[in-house]
Amino acid sequence: MSFETLQLSPSILKAIAVCGYTTPTPIQEQAIPLALAGKDLIASAQTGTGKTAAFTLPALQRLSTPSPINGKGPRILVLTPTRELANQVTDAVRNYGKFMRVRSGAILGGMPYREQLQLLSQPVDLIVATPGRLIDHLERGRINLSRLELLILDEADRMLDMGFSDDVDKIAAAAPANRQTLLFTATMDDVMAKLAQRLLKDPVRIEI
Ligand code: AMP
Repeated sequence: MSFETLQLSPSILKAIAVCGYTTPTPIQEQAIPLALAGKDLIASAQTGTGKTAAFTLPALQRLSTPSPINGKGPRILVLTPTRELANQVTDAVRNYGKFMRVRSGAILGGMPYREQLQLLSQPVDLIVATPGRLIDHLERGRINLSRLELLILDEADRMLDMGFSDDVDKIAAAAPANRQTLLFTATMDDVMAKLAQRLLKDPVRIEI
């Protein structure tokens, strides 16, 4: 399979080509068509499998059509357990989206508020966040998730291990019920299955 057979826009295909990727990885091959079709997904995938592009590419594809709703809240939200991972995802968004006009930024714990408030004061397409700081902005009314189309949980098992379960629930509750949700995790257990049951609708399971 080639990236050209996936329904991605020319500007995304161009960025992939610049990266030197020729073939989608197995997780990309499985997840991208389902994500583009609007399905909720539970994907079991370790780091190093190409999971970041597996959710970033369909997220960017969604941004190639205008938002159906006016407003300044994000259309896409990626939650990650750590700042380090959030920065990696932010870099991937910039990299794969470099031939598009994407307004993106990070909302991270332990970082100064000033830049984050500036980011949230203007319309934004995609936010990568750690759960605690996002809740902070949400509770102060500084971020509105009513325009959210796609919620992505990256390394969801680590988020649960770090005690972010309630925060993730609150964030999902502040987003529209008809959003799409993609959950990526390295491990699956009962607690993860319950989280998926609360947050996802009729999900397709992918294991690689
Ligand atoms: P990840 O699992 O998302 O941390 O990605 C692992 C590494 O694989 C990253 O350095 C990516 O740049 C790289 N990568 C992702 N997708 C592909 C692909 N289709 N072909 C070659 N390298 C890739």
